[in-house]
Amino acid sequence: MSRQASPLLHDYKPSAAAKPAKSKALKWFAVGLGIPLLGISLYNGLGSSDPKPVPSETPVMTAADESPLPAEEKDATTITSDVMESTVTPEPEPLFDSLTLTVGRGDTMEKLFRRNNLNIGHLMTIAQLDEAKQRFRRIKPGDVFEVEHDDGQVVSLFSKLNLTSALRIEKSEEGFTATVIERPVEIRKRHAYGVIESSLFESAAQAGLSDKTVMNVAGIFAWDVDFILDIRSGDNYYVQYEEIWQDGEFVTDGEIIAAEFNNNGRQIQAIRFKDEDENTDYFTPKGNSVRKAFIRAPVDFTRVSSNFNPNRRHPILNTIRAHRGVDYAAPRGTPIKAAGDGKVIFRGTKSGYGKVVILQHGGNITTLYAHMSGFAAKARVGTRVRQGQTIGYVGMTGLATANHLHYEYRLNGVHRNPRTVSLPDAEPIAEKYRQQFLAEAAPILEELEKFKSTQVASIAYNAR
Ligand SMILES: [Zn+2]
Repeated sequence: MSRQASPLLHDYKPSAAAKPAKSKALKWFAVGLGIPLLGISLYNGLGSSDPKPVPSETPVMTAADESPLPAEEKDATTITSDVMESTVTPEPEPLFDSLTLTVGRGDTMEKLFRRNNLNIGHLMTIAQLDEAKQRFRRIKPGDVFEVEHDDGQVVSLFSKLNLTSALRIEKSEEGFTATVIERPVEIRKRHAYGVIESSLFESAAQAGLSDKTVMNVAGIFAWDVDFILDIRSGDNYYVQYEEIWQDGEFVTDGEIIAAEFNNNGRQIQAIRFKDEDENTDYFTPKGNSVRKAFIRAPVDFTRVSSNFNPNRRHPILNTIRAHRGVDYAAPRGTPIKAAGDGKVIFRGTKSGYGKVVILQHGGNITTLYAHMSGFAAKARVGTRVRQGQTIGYVGMTGLATANHLHYEYRLNGVHRNPRTVSLPDAEPIAEKYRQQFLAEAAPILEELEKFKSTQVASIAYNAR
């Protein structure tokens, strides 16, 4: 979302080593990141097939609404329930003890087992099972294993593999067996309508719309709408999005299917398209991309530490040396993204630049990323990278006084200011997908229009 940090334009301090946290720019940036400046009030609407309850307007019974009980009667109630609790027969103890093992940093299955006094021999046997072998090899911090045991003797083990499947290991007379259980998810469609008025997150919460989905909406339109500068009171949007449900329970919000943003009289619509490789992208109803071909700033930065400047005094060399890129200060290790789809044409060390990646985008544009602490394994010379894909990590290799990304944008071999150069639109829908896209988009747009008309009707009704 750093591309929205336009208030940073006034932060032109030339030192790459300046302290990060206290600048005005950072404060502005933090505001930009959260996109809280657009106040949006949301009216949540439901797709026809949608059973999730809407936050209801029905007043909740409060204590004051209840007819107050006489004090004695209240006491009596309390006593009764106390007596009842004490006379209830205790529940039979579960057959086995259960344990939740949560993987921490540096943990192995063996460490987890030892720490919890579970039978290591059992672990060795379980680890021989194909399904378990794969699961155990890929444990990462935060992973959870549910274990039932009898005094350390493993009886069963359960762990999610991904959203739709889980591994279950059980002990029987023949020994341990592993089963992969499918846990299908159900995608439910929802609609929401938002009007920009006061605070986005406040109203989003009110309408039951998650921060995640609000951020997704903002992310889709961020290429065209500056969420700090362009927003006007009365701006509104419609969104159709997915919810993921499993076993009758809501899991999380999914992707946005389609959205419309009405900004100061201008209408922008975006419809999702998934290609055969499951890559998701958003296009206008005519099939044009809602993105630009380049991300303005290819790193989530804390501040711009040095701008494009043909007459800059170099902070280390202390000579006048053109600064042909932009320096974005960010903590060491922050991922650096490919600004656009392209091909890696250089990856290595260039004296003052330190560790560098250069990407070629089409015939006439190259981008350069310098002072990296390391490269992303997949971004090897000759490989194609997608916009937003991590190609390396922020560092201070070469001539640098602090961790930052030095980013250059060259058009026909000439350095241009990456912060002001006019960026080409991203490619429209690929020709081979055009018919498919148009066919898929039509019913989605129809549903969006239908939802809009119900909203418009209810707004008109409420306004009477
Ligand atoms: Zn620089």
